[in-house]
Amino acid sequence: MSVKNKVIVITGASSGIGEASAKLLASHGAKVVLGARREQRLQKLANKIQQQGGQATYRVTDVTKPEDLTALVALAKREFGGIDVIFNNAGIMPTSPISALKTDEWNAMIDVNLKGVLNGVAAVMPDFTNQKYGQIITTSSVAGLKSFAGSGIYGATKFAVRNLMEVIRMESAQEHTNIRTTSLYPAAINTELLHTITDTNAKQGMNKLYASVGITPDAVARVVDFAVAQPDDVNVNEFTIYPTKQG
Ligand code: NDP
Repeated sequence: MSVKNKVIVITGASSGIGEASAKLLASHGAKVVLGARREQRLQKLANKIQQQGGQATYRVTDVTKPEDLTALVALAKREFGGIDVIFNNAGIMPTSPISALKTDEWNAMIDVNLKGVLNGVAAVMPDFTNQKYGQIITTSSVAGLKSFAGSGIYGATKFAVRNLMEVIRMESAQEHTNIRTTSLYPAAINTELLHTITDTNAKQGMNKLYASVGITPDAVARVVDFAVAQPDDVNVNEFTIYPTKQG
């Protein structure tokens, strides 16, 4: 049971959970393919992994663009000879009450958190179907399991990807393709995610919560590592990750 030599595409790899996962997986011998929009961050991370003896490559990727995901998967195959896992992790969380009608932010969350995941799924599905094997890991949220005031659209996107992962798991069983899906439901993890909030009240509330209970993204990275390391016929499909201080 190991992630060694697995080729893993990671979106949202330029910070937070994606970055921590890339570091941990690469340190255990996985070949990581990093995608996000901030090139300097990706370059720095890839260099660091390589300096530590790991294998990493990167490509500037906007998950809202299907062609960017296709190109990221093509890079994985060109550079490392195949694709075993996609970690759909890129996301934004500009929360606000519905009554504030921040409709541009609603659409942005749907584009990144939902369509971005669909674009990742579409990019790997031809290979996964052909090879009758593959793993799709997606970062949902505790807001994808229960409703929170202020998280209407964010939660809607996270509930949606939960459903998507479960349906792919069921269809894989029906089609005998051995495609595994894992949904992650983190609670308060200290990353750059809160920078995407523009609503003053929402930002203050979240900042306070995260400052008092938040844990590091390494907690999620360890779960990703565990899920990838499972044998091919074992699907560990759902994980919640809470700080012990968070009720
Ligand atoms: P960060 O803000 O640190 O990371 C978000 C990542 O998503 C960045 O790498 C960012 O890179 C990338 N991203 C954003 N928009 C796009 C885009 N259009 N195309 C490609 N990449 C994009 O936050 P987290 O690490 O916390 O977030 C990772 C995931 O975890 C998200 O899906 C989030 O919803 C989820 N999550 C986080 C929780 C937390 O408490 N932190 C709790 C529950 C879920 P760049 O800007 O360079 O493109």
